[in-house]
Amino acid sequence: MGERYDAIIIGAGIIGAATAFELAKRGCKTLNVDMLPAAGYGSTSNSCAIIRVHYSTLAGTAFAYEGYFYWRDWADYLQATDERGLAVFHETGALVMKTEVNDYLRKHAALAAELDIPHEHWGPEKIVEKLPIYDLKRFGPPRPLNDESFGESDGGTVEGGIFFPTAGYINDPQLATHNLQRATEAKGGKFLFNKRVVEIPREDGRAAGVVLDDGTRITAPVVVNVAGPHSYKVNEMAGVLGDMTITTKALRQEVVHLPSPSGFDYEHDGLVVSDSDIGCYNRPEQGNHILVGSEDPECDPREFVDPDEFYRDFTHQWTVQAYRMGQRIPELGIPSQRRGVVDLYDVTEDWIPIYDASCLPGFYMAIGSSGNQFKNAPIAGAMMAELIIACEGGLDHDKDPLQFQLPYLKRNLDVGFYSRKREINPESSFSVLG
Ligand SMILES: Cc1cc2nc3c(=O)[nH]c(=O)nc-3n(C[C@H](O)[C@H](O)[C@H](O)COP(=O)(O)OP(=O)(O)OC[C@H]3O[C@@H](n4cnc5c(N)ncnc54)[C@H](O)[C@@H]3O)c2cc1C
Repeated sequence: MGERYDAIIIGAGIIGAATAFELAKRGCKTLNVDMLPAAGYGSTSNSCAIIRVHYSTLAGTAFAYEGYFYWRDWADYLQATDERGLAVFHETGALVMKTEVNDYLRKHAALAAELDIPHEHWGPEKIVEKLPIYDLKRFGPPRPLNDESFGESDGGTVEGGIFFPTAGYINDPQLATHNLQRATEAKGGKFLFNKRVVEIPREDGRAAGVVLDDGTRITAPVVVNVAGPHSYKVNEMAGVLGDMTITTKALRQEVVHLPSPSGFDYEHDGLVVSDSDIGCYNRPEQGNHILVGSEDPECDPREFVDPDEFYRDFTHQWTVQAYRMGQRIPELGIPSQRRGVVDLYDVTEDWIPIYDASCLPGFYMAIGSSGNQFKNAPIAGAMMAELIIACEGGLDHDKDPLQFQLPYLKRNLDVGFYSRKREINPESSFSVLG
């Protein structure tokens, strides 16, 4: 690769591909390098790809609502075709249960009202009308499976929830990333697969490109770390950890696929549901399955791992999640053959990502997506492109943070919210909910 690029993006997951697309749209010559054989084959391929608009902070909520519109208008956004077809957004809406854990959604309702996000308060009757297989007995707080009182209700019922119609899920997150690859290529961007970045050389105190595992050196004045769960390894390689108060680690996660009880078509009539009473979220999955993920309740241990070496089969986590879901759907059958996925989140201390420059001029990072940034990839890519262009033009983003206008919402976002140098944000849910 004797060519010179304006920017090299380490990683071709959904956020790496979106960053490339947005830079290419602005006239930059980009190269994505990924050690896997295709775009979106890393943690993106196992994403639950839920698109939702309820977050714990005003900035996080605005960013997610902005993000929704790109999936709604996916074909227009891409302005390109893909021989494999386009990923599909199933706009089922998302129901969030009101529980003590989320303070009965008081804050979320206020944030939705402030941002004009459509939402409806549903009582128990409405929930059971929509999801007749649900039993709304109250079980919280979530407990480990070996707790004697596991599965015992306190006698009350969940008091209701908020339904957000502008939500759903993407049927194929890997295909969505491939769509972005094709859109980037249509603007002149390049992708290189099966090559691992092993060094980030410096010249004159700046990042100067990458060295690959076959010894090839590729030069560029800008290098962007979008390495997902490997982000901390890339930051170590670049030597940029020194001034970071927020860091990243790889957290192992299991997602459970269970057949819907017979007589109910969860695939077509189900919704995205966030249920902190049982510590699980779920959504419809193809084959009339229910996909069940963890909301990281306090009682569960967190398993931080080396992303190059982690256990890829199911464990006790699969079983406890399946049984927790069984509390809400009494007819649920739990098969002996376990199905689902095992993959990694790239988690920060406050479960809010880092979208930032670094102490090394020319080196940027879009990392720490904490299991909740698939939905935001297009707008995160646009924000990264603006940040890179502004910093390369002389902005000192640490001192004078970029103010980025969200194009759909027409609202300013202080990008300093995502700084690597921030204090831990106490407003966060400290879970995948962000
Ligand atoms: C189980 C699970 C469920 C999730 N559910 C949701 C959800 O419902 N909604 C939501 O919004 N988000 C969800 N997420 C989070 C979302 O999927 C991620 O935030 C997003 O996919 C991250 O994209 P990325 O491009 O940053 O990283 P990745 O997709 O991980 O891509 C990083 C890429 O970098 C490459 N790489 C790493 N190091 C190097 C190197 N040294 N050289 C070359 N290449 C390298 C890797 O091979 C990889 O392909 C979930 C995540 C998981 C794991």
